[in-house]
Amino acid sequence: MAVTPETAATAAASMPLQRDHSVAKHLFFGDILEQNLFPYPQIRAKDRETLGAIVDAIDEFLRSKEKDLRTFDREGEQSADYVQALRDMGLFGLIIGEEYGGLGLSNGAYARVLAQTSAHDSATSVTVGAHSSIGLKGLLLFGNEAQKAKYLPKLASGEMIAAFCLTESGAGSDAASVKTHAKKQADGSWLLNGEKIWISNGGIAGFYTVFARTEGEGGKMSAFIVEAGWPGVSHGHHEDKLGIRGSNTTTVAFSDVRVPAECLLGEEGKGFKVAMAILNNGRTGLGGGAVGGMKALIRLATQQAKDRKQFGKPIIEFGLVREKIAQMTVDCFAAESAVWMLAHYIDHDVEDYSIEAAMSKVFASEAVQRACYESLQIAAGNGFMKEYPYERPTRDTRILSIFEGTNEILRLYVALSGLKDVGASLGNLKEALSHIFDDPIKGFGVLSGYANRRARQRTGFGTDRILTQLSPDLRKVASIYEKSVVELANASDTLLKKYGKRIADQQYQLKRLADIAIDLYVGLCTLSRAASLEKSDPRHGPMAASIAYVFAKQARRRIARNVRAIDVNEDARLEKITEMVANEGRYPWDVF
Ligand SMILES: Cc1cc2nc3c(=O)[nH]c(=O)nc-3n(C[C@H](O)[C@H](O)[C@H](O)COP(=O)(O)OP(=O)(O)OC[C@H]3O[C@@H](n4cnc5c(N)ncnc54)[C@H](O)[C@@H]3O)c2cc1C
Repeated sequence: MAVTPETAATAAASMPLQRDHSVAKHLFFGDILEQNLFPYPQIRAKDRETLGAIVDAIDEFLRSKEKDLRTFDREGEQSADYVQALRDMGLFGLIIGEEYGGLGLSNGAYARVLAQTSAHDSATSVTVGAHSSIGLKGLLLFGNEAQKAKYLPKLASGEMIAAFCLTESGAGSDAASVKTHAKKQADGSWLLNGEKIWISNGGIAGFYTVFARTEGEGGKMSAFIVEAGWPGVSHGHHEDKLGIRGSNTTTVAFSDVRVPAECLLGEEGKGFKVAMAILNNGRTGLGGGAVGGMKALIRLATQQAKDRKQFGKPIIEFGLVREKIAQMTVDCFAAESAVWMLAHYIDHDVEDYSIEAAMSKVFASEAVQRACYESLQIAAGNGFMKEYPYERPTRDTRILSIFEGTNEILRLYVALSGLKDVGASLGNLKEALSHIFDDPIKGFGVLSGYANRRARQRTGFGTDRILTQLSPDLRKVASIYEKSVVELANASDTLLKKYGKRIADQQYQLKRLADIAIDLYVGLCTLSRAASLEKSDPRHGPMAASIAYVFAKQARRRIARNVRAIDVNEDARLEKITEMVANEGRYPWDVF
C-alpha cells in the first residue's frame, strides 16, 4: 500500500495512549511503544489561548527590565520590587487551579512559560520554578483538601512563595541520608530539628516543603509543610553564586520547630517517594527553561553571524559558523520534542514517566550548555565581554546539570530502572526453563513471549505499525531506531547475564546504556514531531524532517560507539589512572 503521512497519522490516532506503559522501559526490551509516541501531541486549546497572552506579557515585561536583570546578576539579588512585579504578573499561580486563584496551566503550558522567562533570564525562571516545579508541587500532588484550601490561594497570589527543602551538607545526591529529624509528640504534633542548604527561594519563601527523618537513624523520612514565620525557623545569608545569581539561595534551619500534625504531607514514612514524585513531575520546568534559553541563543548568534564581517564577508557565510547554527537548531528541536512529549505524559496521567523525565532533563540541560559554548564562540571576543548576552547564560545554565538530580545520578537512574524489568524478565525466563517440564503452560507462556520478541527483533516484522507508514525520508530515520533499539536490548541482556546484581556497580557500562536509551527516546520524539509537522506545516515541515534525519544519523554514530565500547573499552586502564592519581593526590609529572 502506498503510505502517506495522512494514513500514518490516521493509524496512529486510532491507537490510544497506554497509561500503564513507559516508552523508556520498552526500549530496554527492544520495543518501540508507538502508540505512546505517535502522533506528536498537540497543546490543549485552552492552554493555547492563555499562553499567547502570558508569553507576550512576559516578553514585554522582561525586555523592559534588561538593565535591572544585569544589576541583579552583578549584585547577586533580585530586588523586592522585581519579585513583587512577578507576583503582579501572576507568575506564582501558573500551575495552581483556577478555583484557588491560579491559572491552572497544564504541565506543557507551564514549561512553555518557563521557556519564555529563560529566554530573557534564567534567575527569574529559578525564582518562579523553585516555587511551582518543586516548592508547592508536593502540596498539589499529595496535599489533602484542608491543606490545599489553607495554602494554595496564598501561594497562587505569591503572598507566600514556596521552597523545596531536601538537600543537607551530608545529603546531596544521596538524598535519602538526610539528618533533619521530626519527633512525634504526645499531642500528634512534631518537633523538627536540622539544617538544609542551598535552598532556592530559601530567604524569600513563606512556605517550605521539608523532608525529615521520622524514625531513628537510617529510618524512613516524611514530608512536612513548614511556615517560615513559625518560631525556630530561620534562614542564612544569600549565597554568592557562579550563575543564576539573582535567584535567592540560602540555608534554612529548624530549631525545635513545632509542626502541627495536620502539616504532614502525604503518608508518614513516605517522604522519599514524595520527594522523587515532586522532582520527576517538575522536570518539564527545567527542560522548558533550557529550550527557551537555546531559542534565545540561536536568535542572538544568528544575528551576530550576519552582522559580523571578516575576510570581506559576513561570518555566517563560513562553514564552521554555519555548522554551529545548524547543530544548535537540531539540538533545540530535539530537546523541545522530548520535553513536550514528557509534558504530554504527565498531563495525560501516564503512570510512570520517571525515566523519560530523567532523559529529557539530561539531554536538554546539556544541549543548552553546548548552545552557550557555541553561540559565545560565534561572538568570540565580543562573546567574552560582559556587555554581550552570552557570558551570563554560560554561567546561568551550568546549574542545570547539577540541581534537581545531577546528570550522573540521572544517567544511572535511567540505566538501572530500564534494566530492572529486563532483569526480572530474564529471571522469569531462567525460572521457566528450569521448570518447563513441571509447568509447561507457564514455561511456554514466558518462553513464547521472549522468543516472539526476539523473532520480531530479528525480522523487524510486527513491531512497526506506525513506523512503516512514514514518508520515505522519515522511514529511513525510523529504520535507524529499529536497529538501535534491538542493540540496546541485546546489550542489556548481555550485561545482566555477565554481571547479575553487580551491574549496579558497573557505572561505565551503565552510562553507555543510558546514553543509548537517551538517544533513542529523544530521537523517537524528534521523529514523531517531524512526522506531524511534515503534515501540518508546509513551510517548515520538510526541514523538520531533515532535522530528524540529521539527529538520527548523529545518534546512530554515538549509539554504535557506545555499543562497541561495551565490549572493547579502556575502563580498566581508566580505573588504574584514577587509582594512581588518588594515591598520589595530584598529577605526578612535569616536563623538567
Ligand atoms: C544553586 C543551587 C540551588 C539549589 N536548590 C535546591 C533546592 O531548592 N532544594 C534542594 O533541596 N536542593 C537544592 N540544591 C541542591 C542540589 O540539588 C544538589 O547540589 C544536588 O542534588 C547535588 O548534590 P551535591 O551538590 O551535594 O553533590 P554530591 O552529591 O556531593 O555529588 C558530587 C559529584 O559526585 C557525583 N556523584 C555522587 N554520587 C554518585 C554516585 N553514586 N555515582 C556516581 N556519581 C556520583 C555527582 O554526580 C557529582 O558530580 C541546589 C543547589 C544549588 C547549587
